[in-house]
Amino acid sequence: MVTPIEKTYIDTHPKSAEYYATSKELFPNGVTHDARNLKPFPYFVSHAQGSRKWDVDGNEIIDYKGGHGALILGHNHPAIVNAVTDQITKGTHFAASTELEINWANLVKELIPCSEKVRFHSSGTEATMMAIRMARAYTGKSKLVKFADHFHGWHDYVRSHEPAYGGIPIETANTVISIPPNDISIVEKTLSNNQDIAAVILEPTGAHMGDTPVRPSFLGELRELTSRKGVVLIFDEVVTGFRTSPGGAQALYGVTPDLCTMAKILGGGLPGGGVTGKADIIDMIQLRDDSDFNKHQRIGHNGTFNANPLSAAAGVETLQLIKNDTINIKANKAAERLKSGLNDMLSNMEIVGTATGVASAIFLRLGIDVDPDDDEIVFTEEQEHTLGNSVIKDQLTLAMYNHGVDAGPRFIVSSIHTDSDINETIESTSKALSDLRNQGLV
Ligand code: PMP
Repeated sequence: MVTPIEKTYIDTHPKSAEYYATSKELFPNGVTHDARNLKPFPYFVSHAQGSRKWDVDGNEIIDYKGGHGALILGHNHPAIVNAVTDQITKGTHFAASTELEINWANLVKELIPCSEKVRFHSSGTEATMMAIRMARAYTGKSKLVKFADHFHGWHDYVRSHEPAYGGIPIETANTVISIPPNDISIVEKTLSNNQDIAAVILEPTGAHMGDTPVRPSFLGELRELTSRKGVVLIFDEVVTGFRTSPGGAQALYGVTPDLCTMAKILGGGLPGGGVTGKADIIDMIQLRDDSDFNKHQRIGHNGTFNANPLSAAAGVETLQLIKNDTINIKANKAAERLKSGLNDMLSNMEIVGTATGVASAIFLRLGIDVDPDDDEIVFTEEQEHTLGNSVIKDQLTLAMYNHGVDAGPRFIVSSIHTDSDINETIESTSKALSDLRNQGLV
């Protein structure tokens, strides 16, 4: 049965429907990323500028997907356009070292507290894969502790305990221990019961960009425990790096991990990834004057597009702006306005729900009433169950899109979202919630 929200979407997206008829024959579900799956069919986008994007049916959309979190400067920021255009005329690949990569790494070092050395590659998945291997090589231990539902990309280790683990050998899954977050006694017991643990990895603001929050005090507890046990602590800052603050979640909360994974904003909107942290651990890649080490312990690392000049040019420009301008402050202010506007709207409409979030990642949580300013918030099982209602989430996402906002329950806010963008977004969300109310969903 097609809902009224779906009917509006179908009626206003004939061209996307046409593209989907072809794309579903080419790609699984017609898309090239799991997060782009959408019922009744995905929308296709032709171009974007600043805070906006336009789909192939001519609908103008306020964008809060922000390139899956990569675009803190919005679409086509002039500084990035100039840097990339300039670089493309000089060359896109020299298969050699560049001054750009030095500048890029120096900016990482200046911004990220744990950074002593850096290694670049092309994605967040590569970053977590590398950090885990570094921890294993450095400690000589084999197991990884991760937290349930925390997302670290799609390679075998980090995916082995999450839904959709097809194709991952059980032997690989058995090297990973997945436990609930926020309870240090469970971590302590896990580390005490197993002497073969190389590392603990987590998303420092919580699973899925902060969707299920981690208590900031849990980070400090983890730091103390892993230091005491000689286990490598990895903050996966692929999303939070250069966003939660210029120095990521570790700078915001004053907790310094051993290793930090980076991607998204690091590449300034182009593909880029990296691991930074303690030099001793990063140097597991470094060739030594020791053939035994080089053969048996060293980590080999190639990669055609490591530190490629186009991503480096965009990355340098972005990190420079983050360092010298007020990019994070602007994004956070817009996010704060959005958060309080959404909460006012919910109470005016008498809908149970709360907008919460850290820095520039805001979540509209329907069905639960919590303190939006409680930093140490942890959801109960019942609240998580309510929040997991996929019918409400899917209809909300579609209804908001019908009203010109691409967010769903998660808003990734950029430095270029203006006051009028935020006002329009709150109004559109209110209209979307009225549509949900008409369908008896809220
Ligand atoms: N870690 C986190 C916390 C992420 O959110 C993501 C991507 N959303 C990744 C790793 C994987 O990054 P990529 O998609 O660049 O492989």
